[in-house]
Amino acid sequence: MPSSPTVTGRFAPSPSGPLHAGSLIAAIGSYLSARSQGGHWLLRLEDVDGGRVRPGAADTILRQLEALALDWDGPVQTQAARKNIYQDALKALREKGLAYPCACTRQEIRSFGARYPGTCRQGLAAGRQPRSWRLRVPDVLPPWEDRFHGRQDTPAPQGDPVLLRADGYFAYVLACVVDDGVQGVSEVVRGGDLLIITGMQRHLQSALALPHPQYGHLPLLYNADGSKLSKSADSPPWAGDPSQAWEETLRLLGWTTPAGLQGASAVEWRDWALMRMAERQPLYRIAATGPHQQTALSWPS
Ligand code: GLU
Repeated sequence: MPSSPTVTGRFAPSPSGPLHAGSLIAAIGSYLSARSQGGHWLLRLEDVDGGRVRPGAADTILRQLEALALDWDGPVQTQAARKNIYQDALKALREKGLAYPCACTRQEIRSFGARYPGTCRQGLAAGRQPRSWRLRVPDVLPPWEDRFHGRQDTPAPQGDPVLLRADGYFAYVLACVVDDGVQGVSEVVRGGDLLIITGMQRHLQSALALPHPQYGHLPLLYNADGSKLSKSADSPPWAGDPSQAWEETLRLLGWTTPAGLQGASAVEWRDWALMRMAERQPLYRIAATGPHQQTALSWPS
């Protein structure tokens, strides 16, 4: 009888700052999902955008994950040194006519608002110089199933995304899809902010003949003022007690945690959570936290 393929999950933070309470949800969630199925869990530091990398952040992230007892498989992958792989992917897309040069300047792009209107889709006007490369995304994308949120059929919200930026950096969208493919990632469990671009990333996978991982999007955290927690926007890093971090994260995922575990070590929390999942505790129940991933935090300053 053929054995079922191994699950490979991953956590892919960008080293733009230390992990905060919101990133812990993606870290712990993706870990529990992969490990509870006997799968691999990879760690990839998404440093493709050198301009957003903060010195020391990568090291801090590794120490934070260790403190939470989230052990990863194999070497930590980074992106900055893999430009040639992204270059090959872009070349393949160009050859298939799925990527096109864009001459729009920053100022023009700002004037378009949230959605790129496809100005350069049909070719560059005479005298215009290519600045970036974009992916051609159809207006209607095939529906797909999110593991927690069910059927999704949102069109690409920002129009055709940039793959290679005018400043020479490859975009996250391309690097992430290529790396998930190269690393054999079979499931992506990540923050809910990326739910709306997943249809477009799946289109990119199809265009590059890569398999589609299964996707599941977890709740997002907001600051008390309604802004999203973000590493680069100086949200308070998680610097606290690993025991509390586990308890809080599981609670945000809709779990009931036992009083007896308060103050337990990260290893005890991790092993307890894995045991609960073996007993069919769902990783995340939307009903427990509401469908729109909104959880306000009052965050100590
Ligand atoms: N690098 C992204 C971030 O830090 C996550 C990308 C992903 O999980 O696909 O928000």
